[in-house]
Amino acid sequence: MVTPKIHAAILASPGMGHLIPTMELGKLLAINHGFEVTIFVITATTTTNSSNSDTTKSNILQQTSNLNSLKSLNIIVTPPVDVSDKLDPNKPNLGQRITLTMIESLPFIRSQILSMKFPPSVLIVDIFGTTALPMARDLHMSSYVFFSTNAWFTAICIYFPFITKEALLRHANNHEPLLIPGCEPVQFEDTLEILVPPYEPIHEAVVNLTREILSANGILINTWQNLEPAATKAIIEHEILGQFTNGPVYPVGPLVRNVEPEEKREGENLILSWLDEQPAESVIFLSFGSGGTISKCQMTELAYGLELSKQGFIWVVRQPTEGDASAAFFEAKDCDGLPIINYLSDGFVSRTKDVGICVTMWAPQAEILKHPAIGGFVTHCGWNSVLESILNGVPMVAWPLYAEQKMNATMLSKELGVAVKATPIEEGGVVCRKQIAELIHRVMVDEEGIAMRVKVKDYKLSGEKALSVCGSSHGSLYQMTKDCVFHMHQQSSEAKS
Ligand code: UDP
Repeated sequence: MVTPKIHAAILASPGMGHLIPTMELGKLLAINHGFEVTIFVITATTTTNSSNSDTTKSNILQQTSNLNSLKSLNIIVTPPVDVSDKLDPNKPNLGQRITLTMIESLPFIRSQILSMKFPPSVLIVDIFGTTALPMARDLHMSSYVFFSTNAWFTAICIYFPFITKEALLRHANNHEPLLIPGCEPVQFEDTLEILVPPYEPIHEAVVNLTREILSANGILINTWQNLEPAATKAIIEHEILGQFTNGPVYPVGPLVRNVEPEEKREGENLILSWLDEQPAESVIFLSFGSGGTISKCQMTELAYGLELSKQGFIWVVRQPTEGDASAAFFEAKDCDGLPIINYLSDGFVSRTKDVGICVTMWAPQAEILKHPAIGGFVTHCGWNSVLESILNGVPMVAWPLYAEQKMNATMLSKELGVAVKATPIEEGGVVCRKQIAELIHRVMVDEEGIAMRVKVKDYKLSGEKALSVCGSSHGSLYQMTKDCVFHMHQQSSEAKS
């Protein structure tokens, strides 16, 4: 029997960290599983100096999709939406802003879907797009939620509507660990904004968003079973979490941006050419993802710490911001109007010009991490960065800033043993230069770093195996394809009867 072609519409919420894995999922479905794929790139208004500006996005879209050679992958960039008048100016909330942007973009997406000659029968959304699931039901599409993060965080999202207010209050007020069935408890020092405090209106909004997950036909997660055996098992099999999910769970990762091999590199890239001159595993890469920023004082400490470490480095530098670690996500505010380099401590750039490079705003991270000269990564622990590091066998200094990054940092350092964790002197305070130098030394030079390198290379192999033709993640995506065909037949026979 010839399998009919399935058309899947995938919504990518604003942010490179959501767009990049979504593009990779779309590519896999189109190349390996015979799907027609339409990716809606949901667009929020941004300033030009934001990491998610149109320029960065279109570069990524071009590099990632190889558009000309993939006829069954279509990209629709939605008109930019400005939700700033709906937000509380005193309490900037990244998640709320992304969710509202998704909601405001839905009428456009719906009209696009309705006007298609071969309309999609499958809708895939990420965690910020669950408000689109009623539209999928309305249009008789089967629906999937794609978690571009790990299984542990996915478990929390699925379980969220069932956490009692009492448990949340004990967590928020008494700092008791939050218990998630079958998973590691969330320690208070790693907690998420959505877990405290439960009496705020945001709590109700998150309950509604996460409750929608349960109506989907399945859940895809950007992880693989061997990386997170307990959490994936908890979601797939655990008696409590298992009851909550309506459909199957497919761990499909690690999905990361594919990079051209070195010999196929096009054009001159100053950073990569500089790396070509450096000894193997001698350079530490520092980047805080697409939205991360640090304070002025922290930037000074980091610069001195780097110098003290005496290692070669590449540092993605942004304008410092006070009190908003995700400031570069939509609109990096240029407080003093100075060129970014001016925020670095006196003479830092000239003193380090022979050993390191400072890149402003954005660097080709996937390409850099793949380079053999890279020996360590100071990362904010966004899940894409984590996966890119693991898949290149690079141990990390885990320096979480916001969202679920503190949980990721704990998983990397305590469970997987592939990172050392930066700890500010006090909650919300700075990580001092001495600690920074020590952390870099532990990863790049010490015995501990050698052991971490061995472990991370094992996970690299296990991730590659999961994606291979006989691997668990490839098998999951194959199964999901079969389930989509089944749903499509079911829908069409329901429509006929
Ligand atoms: N990225 C990049 N260059 C930069 C900063 C980030 O290419 O200078 C890419 C990075 O490789 C990753 C994504 O942007 O694929 C960031 O996703 P992640 O989940 O790590 O963090 P987020 O930005 O979502 O916090």
